[in-house]
Amino acid sequence: MTPFVLILSSPSGGGKTTIARTLLAAREDLGYSVSATTRPPREGEQEGADYFFLSRNEFQRRAAEGEFLEWAEYSGHWYGTPRAEVDRLLAAGRHVILDIEVQGARQVRERRSDVVSIFILPPSVDELLARLGARGDQPPQALKRRLRQAVVEIDAAREYDYIVVNADRTQAVAEVAAIIDAEAHRARRQTAVLAAIADFKRELVEAADGLAEQ
Ligand code: 5GP
Repeated sequence: MTPFVLILSSPSGGGKTTIARTLLAAREDLGYSVSATTRPPREGEQEGADYFFLSRNEFQRRAAEGEFLEWAEYSGHWYGTPRAEVDRLLAAGRHVILDIEVQGARQVRERRSDVVSIFILPPSVDELLARLGARGDQPPQALKRRLRQAVVEIDAAREYDYIVVNADRTQAVAEVAAIIDAEAHRARRQTAVLAAIADFKRELVEAADGLAEQ
């Protein structure tokens, strides 16, 4: 089976990272492309597992050398998908999950044909506000910026192949898994089956030829 690139996008607080982690822990046919970023690590984040943390100079150098399949600025920081990561995982026969924002998703769709994209939508505005920590203690300016960003992101949902509403995490994970399974069954991706069909056909023709004409 020919593996594909699976883009998961959502506004921050939409739940895509949790969905991706749950699927990655449960399925061996998936791999995660670790992105590069110029944003500083958050508590608990590990170099090479959550992100490759780069200086702006280093990021710029790699971008100029064409090392990124896509890259975009988000909330004042740069984020990019290393081409080598994606190629390595595909070569290992795994579908590659890209947890990326909407501008990056557009670039990947333009540059590759083997892309399946899913937008994870929070179930309601109230739920999104709660997940963004509207009742927490982050400065109103920062929250305002995140909400404006969410408006732009939600607007891009229609560009995706699929939209999954994340009202219930278990259900959302099951829906994303169903999409992956259906996409893996597309005729053009079933290379081994297509090859077997050629043998199948030859044997059928031989069987038919071997029968006496009536
Ligand atoms: P965070 O800083 O919260 O980890 O991520 C911020 C946003 O950047 C999220 O929407 C995340 O999906 C997105 N992002 C993470 N890695 C990449 C990447 O390699 N490329 C792009 N375009 N977006 C990314």
